[in-house]
Amino acid sequence: MNVLHSTQIIIREALSKLGYPDEMYELLKEPLRLLTVRIPVRMDDGHMQIFTGYRAQHNDAVGPTKGGVRFHPDVNEDEVKALSIWMSLKCGIVDLPYGGGKGGIICDPRKMSFRELERLSRGYVRAISQVVGPSKDIPAPDVMTNSQIMAWMMDEYSRIREFDAPGFITGKPIVLGGSHGRETATAKGVTMMIYKALQKKDIAIHNARVIIQGFGNAGSFLAKFMHDAGARVVGISDANGALYNPDGLDIPELLERRDSFGTVTNLFSNTITNREMLEQECDILVPAAIENQITRENAHRIKAGIIVEAANGPTTLEATKILTDNGILLVPDVLASAGGVIVSYFEWVQNNQGYYWTEEEVEAKLRKKMEDSFENVYQLHLTRKVDMRLAAYMSGVRKMAEASRYRGWI
Ligand code: NAD
Repeated sequence: MNVLHSTQIIIREALSKLGYPDEMYELLKEPLRLLTVRIPVRMDDGHMQIFTGYRAQHNDAVGPTKGGVRFHPDVNEDEVKALSIWMSLKCGIVDLPYGGGKGGIICDPRKMSFRELERLSRGYVRAISQVVGPSKDIPAPDVMTNSQIMAWMMDEYSRIREFDAPGFITGKPIVLGGSHGRETATAKGVTMMIYKALQKKDIAIHNARVIIQGFGNAGSFLAKFMHDAGARVVGISDANGALYNPDGLDIPELLERRDSFGTVTNLFSNTITNREMLEQECDILVPAAIENQITRENAHRIKAGIIVEAANGPTTLEATKILTDNGILLVPDVLASAGGVIVSYFEWVQNNQGYYWTEEEVEAKLRKKMEDSFENVYQLHLTRKVDMRLAAYMSGVRKMAEASRYRGWI
């Protein structure tokens, strides 16, 4: 089942549990808008390559849409649509004044030069400039995009509009109006969710063994925070393979040796596959890479007691049921990975007011939002006797459904 279809199934269930009519599902099952663009880029060898990109805006009843831009060869229409819906849900769960948006370009940045990436980033902004803006739709980083790419995009948008527009995009370098704590925000938020889950299971962090799939922005900072907290990180992986050691991995060394795309396992010969790693002994499993990693094929063999989803969509619907039936506490993506969009929101607020906060202020505000949201979802899961994913969807969909109703859209 593709990610859009499975998302629609849970949205329908969440709306029905909340007592909304079918029309509400019809409104929310797809983005309000999807723009497809073709971006010509002059490559370094002189030839012109045409890239395809997307920008989806799921629902703007609550406020402007917000969400990252992904550079990846597998980007496709349904994925961008699903990602924009997940962004709406995240913003609802952690109570931000936004709807969800998402963008993507079909490309492989690992095979492109610095200047080619700059031309592609600027070309994308020129192509979507009519539908985005600080009070319309605000992009951010996602898979294989970073603060440098955000800086080029912000510069291009400011040139087109002929005024400086830092609030057009978040995840910028600090000197261009970025927020302290943005780079580590997703991993910090995931760390906070791990602490909450451990508390519910009555496990101490220094007794916990952790496996993290993906060693990019989310996964590598998380590995650092877990290591610093005294947990034993026994497994990590990237696109090429995985490392597992029941006695704990040397995280500082791995962080030192990883490249800018989050690759490190190619430096070792004693690797196992990603599939094998997911099934190893541990207390906490954090998928922090890509979609559809825990499926009905391997869910029975997962040994972790807690799964915290840093990646978007790593667990299928069938697998969610198997894991829940097996007593595993699953903190779903739309809650667990919301740290990134929360601090993106803080960045936008700081840009709009022109007054900047310290890292400590950002972290305290992030903690309050993440911890309150966890408790809301956890209590909903207990009182309505639904799994954590459905509880999160119920919490996330409510605000945009209400806003759509007040606006007279339904
Ligand atoms: P990234 O590009 O920095 O890192 C991705 C990591 O996953 C790399 O280590 C890569 O080698 C690995 N990977 C790629 N394909 C893989 C495969 N087939 N099997 C195993 N590993 C693979 O990306 P990121 O920003 O860390 O994002 C990771 C996930 O977290 C994505 O699902 C993203 O949507 C989600 N997320 C990220 C943020 C953020 O702020 N960075 C926020 C919310 C959600």
